[in-house]
Order: sequence, then structure tokens, then C-alpha cells
Amino acid sequence: MKYVRFEDNSGAVQEGVIMEGEIKAGSRLYDPSDVSILPPTRPSKIVCVGLNYQDHIEETGRKTPERPALFLKTPNTVASHEETITLLPGKERIDFEAELGVVIGKRCRNISAGEAMQYVKGFTCVNDLSNRDDQRIEQNWVRGKSFDKACPFGPYVVSAKDVDEHAKITLKQNGKVMQSSSIDQMLFSVPELIAEITKYMTLEAGDLIATGTPSGVGPIKDKDVIEVYIEGVCTLRNWFRIP
Ligand code: MG
Repeated sequence: MKYVRFEDNSGAVQEGVIMEGEIKAGSRLYDPSDVSILPPTRPSKIVCVGLNYQDHIEETGRKTPERPALFLKTPNTVASHEETITLLPGKERIDFEAELGVVIGKRCRNISAGEAMQYVKGFTCVNDLSNRDDQRIEQNWVRGKSFDKACPFGPYVVSAKDVDEHAKITLKQNGKVMQSSSIDQMLFSVPELIAEITKYMTLEAGDLIATGTPSGVGPIKDKDVIEVYIEGVCTLRNWFRIP
């Protein structure tokens, strides 16, 4: 199943599924090009995983963590597929990071890895925008990771069972491949991440987990178009401006 959230011509926000290229919402069908695609959920929080691909750990020069390295992005970071995102002015380096996003389907707390996937609605694409200027001088990464629009995600959420466990993850900057890996390269798997996170906090329906990025992260430039593609899931595309 491929889920989508959208605003129709009357301004009503609806949820539907993609069927044969059309959006089905209740008994009505919509042409995806006639509606505004919204971020798939309005998460109460976005739990992010750092250093979850060995090749990215090596490019950062950090040590492999013994447990998942977790940080948060706040709800103001949400941005839509095909939205033009204006980045913070005066920063030397704001990077793209292609990531598999996990959308939670049901509230959960203290969940074992074995039961974790029952609580997952599906997978989506995330671009974990990262302001390195501030990230490198602050411990909690508030300025580094939670500036406005720092988490474009979507456009669809695809049931986990419909996604190959070896699915490719790719990021293109102006059409050039910058990141290329597969989701089976994650050090901590999706069930392991959910088990670890829910030891500490309740995950609500609609919450998002950004599961970490492979190697190849790099700076975004003015007028870039950046696409995050996960095989069998979707392509997330955004344009960027730097004032
Ligand atoms: Mg990241």
C-alpha cells in the first residue's frame, strides 16, 4: 500500500492511497497533478539516528557507536515534496543527507525488536538537512538540525512489506549521483532502532524516525535541486535557495 496526504482544490486536507497512478480517497479519485502533496504526516517529533552506515562513519572520522546515536528534529522542520526551501543565510555549509524514513502507525512504548514492525505504517524518503556551521560547535544540535524546513520528507509512505530489504537509496544533486547505498547497510536495523527508542520515549502515530545516512553527504548550493530516491518507495524532490 502506498499512502499519501494531500490538499484538494477546495483546501481540504485528505488522506488517500495511490492506485494505478491516481489518488483514491474515500470513494473519490484525484489526479496527483491536480492536488498539493503534503508531508505524509504531522509528526509530534522526529527521532534521528546518526552514524548508522559504516561508510558515513568513516567519512566523518568518528567511532562506530555501541548503541544507536540518537538526536531529535522538531516539528517546525517538516517540509513537503517539491517545496522550494530557503536555507539559513550566512552559513558556510548546510548538507544534504538521504535517509530511509520510518513512519509510526500506532502509539508504542517498550516494544521489542520482534514486535516492532507491527507498529510501523511504512517507509518514506527523508532529507536530513544539516547545518554544519552550528552542529560542530554545539552539543545538542538544536541550531544544527532543527532550523525551519530542515526535514523534507515524503511524498509517499509505502508499507514495509512492499519494500525490498536490500532496496537502494540514492541522492542526486542537480542530476548527479552523490550518495548511493542500500538500506541493508544500516548498522542498527529498523526493529532494533524502534526497540531502543521506545525504551526511553513513547512513539505516537505519525512520528518519524530518520534512520541515518550513507556516505557522500555534501553541501547544498543556491538553486540546487536535490532528489532522494529509495527503490520501491518514492522520490523526494526539493529546490533550494540560499538568500
Ligand atoms: Mg542524518
